Formats: sequence, structure tokens, C-alpha cells
Amino acid sequence: MKFMEAERVRNLPPYLFARIEQLIEQKRAEGVDVISLGIGDPDLPTPKFIIDAAAKELYNPANHQYPSSAGMLSYREAVASWYSRRFGVELDPKREIVSLIGSKEGIAHIPWCYCNPGDVVLVPDPGYPVYGQGTILAGGLPFSLSVTPERGYKPDFSTVPDDVATKAKILFINYPNNPTGATADLDFFEEVVAFARKYQLLVCHDAAYSEIAYEGYRPPSFLETPGAKDVGIEFHSVSKAYNMTGWRVGWAVGNPDAVQALGRLKTNIDSGVFQAVQYAAIHALTNPQGDSAELCAIYQARRDLVVDTLNEIGWSLEKSKATFYIWAPVPAGHTSATFAELVLDNAGVVITPGTGYGAGGEGYFRISLTVSNERLREAMERLRRALK
Ligand SMILES: *Cc1c(COP(=O)(O)O)cnc(C)c1O
Repeated sequence: MKFMEAERVRNLPPYLFARIEQLIEQKRAEGVDVISLGIGDPDLPTPKFIIDAAAKELYNPANHQYPSSAGMLSYREAVASWYSRRFGVELDPKREIVSLIGSKEGIAHIPWCYCNPGDVVLVPDPGYPVYGQGTILAGGLPFSLSVTPERGYKPDFSTVPDDVATKAKILFINYPNNPTGATADLDFFEEVVAFARKYQLLVCHDAAYSEIAYEGYRPPSFLETPGAKDVGIEFHSVSKAYNMTGWRVGWAVGNPDAVQALGRLKTNIDSGVFQAVQYAAIHALTNPQGDSAELCAIYQARRDLVVDTLNEIGWSLEKSKATFYIWAPVPAGHTSATFAELVLDNAGVVITPGTGYGAGGEGYFRISLTVSNERLREAMERLRRALK
């Protein structure tokens, strides 16, 4: 029997990293010692105090039943207290916070809440692929907002045609930014609030990297901006700050109508996050040991190694203040794809072609700093040899 896939799935490209994993497997089968700098997934383990807290909760039968879809109140209170301490943002745990199965889940689902067929969603290009694909799955139309180094990878809202902005329901933004490493300050967020007000858009800010920053820089929350809660929500999780990508726990916070619409949708799809995992997140957010300074120092040393190496062999990159990514132009004469292929063939190193983040990523590649110092050093030595 042959099943005919629905158009929405037939037209869905495989998730970028699923494709990269296939490629790596193929090379490894050929006997190549591949070093992958492709995937942004922390290599270091979850801190022990978090694992210990979760392990204890595993044995409590009360945690074995369906969790509440919105998250335990104590979980939402832990998120609220973290926002208050970290950003000075006050949130009502009952109305302005919903738990997510990782922030990716909420990002993929929010267009279902606000897009009727044909409605527009403004999506940065290059950007995290889930904004556009989540929009398409919900029947919406992504509109690419070009972001370029000249403007610090911030969209220029004055270039969005009036009829597009009028049809738009959602604006996705993401700072500190994957894949470019760009950061945004409150002045830019104020521009975002004004644009969203003018066109009645829901701003969805993806703050996944707010805790991965260097040299004393502390990235702000979008919700620190005056009026932000009237127009927007923020997606976040413990994934990047606490090496917890596998645990699948995050949150959406901010505008109470949007948070509750997402929560209502989710009650019809999932049944929340395993409570032992919610307890793990509570401990991560409330324990004073849950400080990512040590982790950031490790990434900062890796960032310096990669940027210094690239600059020694012909690049002239600045060091980004946040995220664990290096975003760099490919050498003249290359496309993103041909350069990624060259690096894989000649160095056995996987880098991500910029086009994986949209057409606007053409001419760039991304290196992720989430491999051990030893493997990263080896990868840089191989790049040096291969690209000399
Ligand atoms: C990693 C990442 C996320 C999602 O992480 P979760 O583990 O689902 O919380 C969201 N946005 C960006 C830009 C990311 O890089």
C-alpha cells in the first residue's frame, strides 16, 4: 500500500540537522574521523545538582501521572522569580507563563494560534528554520525580513511593504541571534514595539541564548522594553544555559492573551512536561549554583580559538558578544554549499552552510562551539592545513 502524503508534509524540507546527520554518518562509514561543528547542542553534561534533584523526583509516584499542561504552579513561579531577578521583569505565574516541551515546541505552535490561511508571518532571513516552517505548517505565509551585517543583523522595518505588514499577524525576532551571533539592545526593541503597535502584530522574541554571553555583557529580555507585554511574548528554556537540551522543558511568557491562547492550543495536543523534569528546571533556575558564568568562560575560550584561527588564515572577524556560534563569510569564489563540501572533504570537519537558515544566509557558514576543547583544537588545525 502507498500512502499519499499531505501537501504540507510533502513540501516540508527535512530539518536541516537531520540532513547533516545523514551526511556525517555517510562519511564515518567511509572511515573518515568527522568532527562536527554543525549542530548547536552543548557537549557538556547537565550540572549534577540538577540531575540529583530530578533523580529524587523520579521516585515520587505523584510525578508519574499526567502533568498539568500549563506547568506546575511552582514551576511557573520559579520562571517568574528568575525573570524578576535576572531582568527586572514581573510576570503573573497564573496568567503570563506557560510551560513548553522546549521552546522549539512553542515556536512551532504559536502560528497555529494567530494565522488563518494566507496570513503573513514576518521571519528574519537568515534565521532559525522553525519560524518559517512552523508558519507554513499552520497555513500561514512566511515573509522574509532580510537581516544583514550592515545593520547588525536587525531587520529594517521601513522596507516591509505596507500591504504585507497589514496582512502580518506575527513578527519573529531572536537576540542573541542564531546563526549570526548578533545582539540587540533596548533601543532596537523599542523600534520593534512601535512597529508591532502600528500593524497590530504579535512579537515573538526567541531568547534561547540570553545566558550565553561574554565579557560581562548581559543580554536583555524583550519584555524589559516599555509596552513589550502589550505586543509580545518571549520564548526561552533551560536548554542552552544549563546543558539541558535533552530534557525538553521551556516556557513562553509575556502577553497574557497570547500565552493563554498557546496554552489552550497545547491542551489539545500535548499533556505538558514530565514533572520530574519541571523540578529539574526549578532547581536550575532557583539554585545559586545555577550560574552560567563558568560555562560562558569555556565557550569564550573556544570562541577566541576559532576566531583567532580564522583571522590568522585570512578572515577578519569580530568576536561576538553572545551565543556559541561563529558566523563567517565563505572565501571568494565559493557558495555556502561548495565551501561546506570542501571543508568536509579536505578537513573532515562539518560546518553548517548559511543557506540552511534561509536564502539570506548564502555566502556564509556557521561554526558551533559545542564540541570538546580537544576536538575543536584538532578541527582548527585541520582547517589551517586544508585552507592554507
Ligand atoms: C536551541 C534553540 C531553540 C530551542 O531550544 P529548546 O531546546 O527547544 O528550548 C530556540 N531557538 C533558537 C534560535 C535555538 O538556537
